[in-house]
Amino acid sequence: MDKNQISEASASTNSISRRTALRLGAVAAASVSLAPNLLAARAKRKVVVWSEGTASVDAKSKEVYPNDINAVVAEGLKPLAGAGWEIITASLNDPDQGVSDERLRSADVLIWWGHKKHKDVKDELVARIARRVKEDGMGFIALHSSHFCKPFKALMGTPCSWREYKTDGTSAKVIVKDPNHPIAKGVKDFALPKIERYGEPFAVPTPEAVPLDGIYIKPDGSTEPGRMGLCWTVGKGHVFYFTPGHETYNDFFLDEVRLILRNAVQWAAPVK
Ligand code: ZN
Repeated sequence: MDKNQISEASASTNSISRRTALRLGAVAAASVSLAPNLLAARAKRKVVVWSEGTASVDAKSKEVYPNDINAVVAEGLKPLAGAGWEIITASLNDPDQGVSDERLRSADVLIWWGHKKHKDVKDELVARIARRVKEDGMGFIALHSSHFCKPFKALMGTPCSWREYKTDGTSAKVIVKDPNHPIAKGVKDFALPKIERYGEPFAVPTPEAVPLDGIYIKPDGSTEPGRMGLCWTVGKGHVFYFTPGHETYNDFFLDEVRLILRNAVQWAAPVK
């Protein structure tokens, strides 16, 4: 092989290398262009935690929830940020009652805690929320006294009342009834030393799943069953109701409750 041949072989090798490099470059470029899309898709997952802004004002609850209930629920969801979730809080006191059209359209899941101000929520907003669940598949999670919130009632289409409401020193055991349900993943039975007792029956459509059941233990020692976590599919959307969460108790600080709500957010989110 003379110098020219070496040179030609080298040129040929170089040329193959360049083609290979170009091809690899194209693959790399495709990967690079794909990665931001994947990241963007993950970043788009958003949960909005809404509360009515009364727990932080009322004398009996403001010591437990000085920054309102939405802040504490959102704090419990923080580990989801590592899985690409954006967690934001919203309040009835915010512009557009906390749920602008733009915010609603960008939300994958809306969590709702209301108690005294259900009537203040505008019917127009309720209709938009119900549409977003039924038509677009946004998840909706109603907490505790939000069984009477307008969006939940609109989605259920029933009175959504419990038989009775008692804050009399009742405690409860929350029981994982369906350990294979995504909302019960990793959750163990746990006790709530105080709970507002919501007596069955609950005037809602038959749920598709009840991953969490419960037993109330009354001050006199007698017991009564009460469902704690119920699931429905309404149109395209998943709906979850969670019974605990009274404003004078620290339920939303508890690890088990926080795990349930993180699971519920992921279960309720539409598949993308
Ligand atoms: Zn309550």
